[in-house]
Amino acid sequence: MRIRNIRCREVTGSLPFAGEFWEERLSRPIDVYPEHRTEGVPWLERRDAQTYTVRATFMEVETDAGIVGLAGPITPNIAHIILTDFKGLLLGADPLAVELLWDKLYRLSVHGRKGITMMAISALDCALWDIRGKWFNVPVYALLGGPTRERIPAYASMLGFSVEPEQAAARAREFAAKGYTAQKWFFRAVPADGPAGVERNVALVQAVREAIGPDADLMLDCWMSWDLRYARTMAERIAAYRPRWVEEPVMPDKYDVCAQIRRHAPYPIANGEHEYTRWGFHKLLEVGAQDVLQPDIMWAGGLTEVVKIAALASVYDVEVVPHNHSTYATLHFSASQSPALCPVQEYLVKWNTINNFFFTHKPEPINGYLELPQQPGIGWAIDESVVETCVIME
Ligand SMILES: [Mg+2]
Repeated sequence: MRIRNIRCREVTGSLPFAGEFWEERLSRPIDVYPEHRTEGVPWLERRDAQTYTVRATFMEVETDAGIVGLAGPITPNIAHIILTDFKGLLLGADPLAVELLWDKLYRLSVHGRKGITMMAISALDCALWDIRGKWFNVPVYALLGGPTRERIPAYASMLGFSVEPEQAAARAREFAAKGYTAQKWFFRAVPADGPAGVERNVALVQAVREAIGPDADLMLDCWMSWDLRYARTMAERIAAYRPRWVEEPVMPDKYDVCAQIRRHAPYPIANGEHEYTRWGFHKLLEVGAQDVLQPDIMWAGGLTEVVKIAALASVYDVEVVPHNHSTYATLHFSASQSPALCPVQEYLVKWNTINNFFFTHKPEPINGYLELPQQPGIGWAIDESVVETCVIME
């Protein structure tokens, strides 16, 4: 079997949704600047009062055996890298040789070892695993040594919901009633918001903890927006609410600062959502920057690489709970790993409404568990009936 063509499809569709889809955004490192701190959520396009336009780009790797490997959604700039930098290398190659092709792509990308070039390699890797699974007629986790369990516990990741205490508490109760025993909430206030921001963040934690009760797990995401001093201030204020973890307190390059925060924090620290490859994660593990490692399959190097990152983490007794850009890709990873190493999987409630929009089947937790895909390959397939416009890039 040989790779015959690689193309990308930019598609649009209509998401019926009355009212504001994104009620709130997360804090961002750039919020240190007042003109950015007040910005809203820019990334969903409203068509009319009842409808949003959803845009997505998918990549297809076509083989001469009639099998097509799919990956996505990706962004148009990642598609551009795939088509201009990588396509020539891959045409005519054996798509089953994923280790060989990963190594070649990596060695070709000396200026792209982190960031969007590695995201392009990740997408290609997932498409190649999709081909592998379809070729051997099994789900990808079966090729990776799984399934290690029949279903994967999921936590509700509450990005995009209002963080006003009363509304957050109501949402938290709603999702607890759906069977989730763990939820992650996202801070909105940043250090530059001063003492009032601290109070706002603490009020969110208090409201959600009281709503979900003492036994449920509560995770909190800082999205790289804190600094060492703020982390210490917040630790004093939120320790009593017993977070299961506090996530990504500082910018990804601050390895040692994150390790310092972890040493002093009275709760576990999660980190690595914006780190890439085994070399980046090895550095995080060496300095002891976290208790929970969060590589994203679609960003950190694909399934090929994140399996290696998980092996490294197991040596350090650090849990691996991937950031979940793709529920599909992460399911195959989770199902191939020990439940002791990867106990739970993220499910971004609002994000998945958009990210899985074009798929025929949308994996969604039931009673707090995700079922494993049974189809050969990764299992994702585009539902052509919801595609309204399509531009092919080759
Ligand atoms: Mg995060």
